Amino acid sequence: MTDRAAAEPLLSIRNLHTFFYTDAGVARSVDGVSLDIAAGETVGLVGESGCGKSVTAMSILRLIRPPGRVEAGSEIVFEGKDIMGLGDKELRAIRGARIAMVFQEPMTALNPVFTVGDQIAEVVRIHGGSKEEAWKRAVEMLTVVGIPSPEQRAKEYPHQLSGGMRQRVVIAMALVLNPALVIADEPTTALDVTIQAQILELLKDLQQKFGTSILLITHDLGVVAETASRVIVMYGGEVVEEATVEELFKKAHHPYTEGLLNAMPQVGEAKERLNTIPGTVPPPTAWPKGCRFRDRCPYSWDRCEAEHPPLYSIGEGHVSRCHLAEEPQRRAHPHKPIVEQIADEGGFARGSQKGERDVAAERAAVSARVGSSDKGKGIS
Ligand code: SF4
Repeated sequence: MTDRAAAEPLLSIRNLHTFFYTDAGVARSVDGVSLDIAAGETVGLVGESGCGKSVTAMSILRLIRPPGRVEAGSEIVFEGKDIMGLGDKELRAIRGARIAMVFQEPMTALNPVFTVGDQIAEVVRIHGGSKEEAWKRAVEMLTVVGIPSPEQRAKEYPHQLSGGMRQRVVIAMALVLNPALVIADEPTTALDVTIQAQILELLKDLQQKFGTSILLITHDLGVVAETASRVIVMYGGEVVEEATVEELFKKAHHPYTEGLLNAMPQVGEAKERLNTIPGTVPPPTAWPKGCRFRDRCPYSWDRCEAEHPPLYSIGEGHVSRCHLAEEPQRRAHPHKPIVEQIADEGGFARGSQKGERDVAAERAAVSARVGSSDKGKGIS
């Protein structure tokens, strides 16, 4: 957490647990997340699909529906109010007016049978504005987000606009009541690269103009570098690293963050294939014992299976959930991640009929070899 966030947190989340009670077991999608966002700050929340980013966002707005629930003991404080203790009426007053969301796919966020002007105006009307005032605000907002001929465009339907314009409309809807916090969930993923850059620029401009805080959810560290001042990396339902954007790009500590950075395409680098992180995020119904990134990590050793890593302090405002903080010398001895070793042995072959027990046994066997091979290198 930076000094700024500590001094004036607009949003403060402590120990957030959001679980889904499914037939396949309890999915611990968000498992003890704490984070702060200061007034006027843009924070990037980064990770692959299935890491818990979007469930964190939905939990903030109390939009989790059965079979999911935010567990007792989770704390979400926004503008000094305990969100967990609010009734439906108070929550409705906050949603849209004080906290707004921008979703990934504008076509699903907009209603195809109403004009875009009506949809923006509706937000104003729900929160008490008159019909005339709401329409005037809608046209004003279309101007603010850079839509040409706003009076005419306001009378058009979503299908009459391009993808980039539709996303501008969604941003206009989010900002029309001047909220304190905008949660933007992959706002540029569905757009092509040039439009993506324009939308990021627009978000940055609006953030500066209105002083809105932004929680930017993305799997793309490039998007974070362009827009945010601080970044929180999630993996396996937990925060695994947090730092300023500058610090993270210079001195990423967690091997998962390292993997995400290595997977970014570099300008001027001629490569046939981009780097990837081997394996996939494990299912939230069965987080592995110890470190949840262990199977995919090139540095894992026996301690990583035995002990669930806490968030270690790496420097000012920089934390990492990795035992390398205490045993940095192990970084000098990378090995093939367990998932790759099992794949080499045919364990994770496509179409494999192996049961969970077989896979767990293989994992344990490979893990034992990784742990024991380290011992021979004299680095413990
Ligand atoms: Fe890798 Fe171990 Fe760090 Fe987890 S704790 S990220 S397995 S080195």
